Amino acid sequence: MIVDETIDDSTSTVMFKPICAHCGYVFKKIEYNANKPYYGSKLSESGFTPPYCPGCGKKIVSLTIPMPDEYGNVKYEYEEK
Ligand SMILES: [Zn+2]
Repeated sequence: MIVDETIDDSTSTVMFKPICAHCGYVFKKIEYNANKPYYGSKLSESGFTPPYCPGCGKKIVSLTIPMPDEYGNVKYEYEEK
């Protein structure tokens, strides 16, 4: 087997995309000040840019971000609806 020498890095990074939980719209850009109070993995209301989902128009009130659980594990599992 010949290894392609142009590939000099065999590592990668997993990216979490911001997706509207209601319609599945993938945000190209979203901003939030995480220094405001948050509860667990749910950031609190207010301060989102954009304030409404461009896909369904619903007001954005929370943002779920991957955070380590009490054991330090970060898990993601796709759930069919
Ligand atoms: Zn939406």
